[in-house]
Amino acid sequence: MSAVLELSCALIARRSNTPDDAGCCGILEARLRPLGFDIEYFNAGGVTNLWATRGNGRPLTILAGHTDVVPAGPLDQWRSDPFKPEVRDGVLYGRGAADMKSGIAAMVCAVERLLANGANVPGTLAFLITSDEEGIATHGTQHVVRELSARGVVPDYAIVGEASSNLRLGDRIVIGRRGSLGCNLTVTGRQGHVAYPHKGDNPVHRLAPALAELVATQWDSGNAHFPPTSFQISNFHAGTGATNVIPGSAEAVFNFRYCTESTAEDLKARVHAVLDRWCPRYQADWWHSGLPFLTRDGRLRTSATAAVQQVTGVQPEPFTGGGTSDARFLAPWGAEVVEIGPINDSIHKIDEHVRVDDLQPLSRIYEVLLQRLAAA
Ligand SMILES: [Zn+2]
Repeated sequence: MSAVLELSCALIARRSNTPDDAGCCGILEARLRPLGFDIEYFNAGGVTNLWATRGNGRPLTILAGHTDVVPAGPLDQWRSDPFKPEVRDGVLYGRGAADMKSGIAAMVCAVERLLANGANVPGTLAFLITSDEEGIATHGTQHVVRELSARGVVPDYAIVGEASSNLRLGDRIVIGRRGSLGCNLTVTGRQGHVAYPHKGDNPVHRLAPALAELVATQWDSGNAHFPPTSFQISNFHAGTGATNVIPGSAEAVFNFRYCTESTAEDLKARVHAVLDRWCPRYQADWWHSGLPFLTRDGRLRTSATAAVQQVTGVQPEPFTGGGTSDARFLAPWGAEVVEIGPINDSIHKIDEHVRVDDLQPLSRIYEVLLQRLAAA
C-alpha cells in the first residue's frame, strides 16, 4: 500500500462531519513535526485549525486543505461504510476520499519525499488545515487568515488540494472563482379574499414580474477567464394553502455567481432598481459569501501547469467554474492561488471515491510543483 493511500485511509476513517476534525489534524501533526514543522492551532468555535510552518521568511508557500466532510446521507445507499475506507477494483471509497482527504494526504507525502531527498526549500513552507470548509466557514481559514494578517504574515503562494480535475487527473486546475451573492427577499402585500381583489394587495402579482425581469436580465458578458454572471432563484414561497385567500406576503431566495465584470454593490443596486419598480413594500436581506478572484498568469500558474504536464502528460485547462472553496479567503490575503486535486465527479455524493492509481501521481504533482517554485 502506498504512503498516500495509507494516509488517505487513516484520514477517511476519522468521522469528521463538518466542523468536527475528529482527530485528523493530530494525525497530520504527527507526520509534520518529525519533518521540522512548528505546529500552532488557531481553534475557534469548535473548529480545529492547524498552522504548521517550516523555515523562515519569504516566499511563504501554503499547502491548504480541509479535514471536514459533508454528511454521508442515507447509509443504506452506500456500498460500504463511508468512514471505513475500502478499495474495490482499484478505487478507494469513503466520505472525503475526493473532497479532500486524499489531497491532504498527497500533499503531506509530497513534502515528506521532498525533504527526505534533501531539497532546499527557500522561505517558509506551511500547511493550513481547517475543519470548517464545508460548513459556514467563518471559524476556519477566514479566521486563521485574520489572525495571521494581524501578525503581519503575507503569503506568496497557496496550493489548495481540492478536487479540481474533471475527467482525468490534472486536466483542470482552478485559477479563479466566481463570487457568491445571495438574497432573502420578502414582498409584503395585504391578505384578502380572492373574490374581492380590490380589498387585498397580492404580493405574488408584484413579485412575479419582478423575478421574470431579473431572470431575463443579462448581468454582464463574462470575460476571457469567466463565464457571464448567473442569477438563480432557489426558493419561492407564498400562499396560505387555502384556494380563496390572497396571501399577505411572498418570499424568494436567489443567488448570483458573479464574475470579475460585476461587483456585488452593482448587482444589488440593479436588483433594487427592478424591485422598486414592481414592489412597493419589500425587505431584501443580502449575504455575501465570497469575492471573485483570478490568479494572474504568474509563477505559481506556470509552475503548476508544468508540474501537471511533467507528471501526467496532460495539458491542464485553467478553470474558474464550480463552487466556492477556501481559495476565496487565501486570494484576497495576497496569495497567488491554484487548486489542484483529484477528479471531482463523486464529491458530496453517495459512494464518494478516488482512483487509487491517481494518488501517487497527485502527490508527485505537488512535489514537482514545490520543486519548480523553489528553483527560482
Ligand atoms: Zn472540499
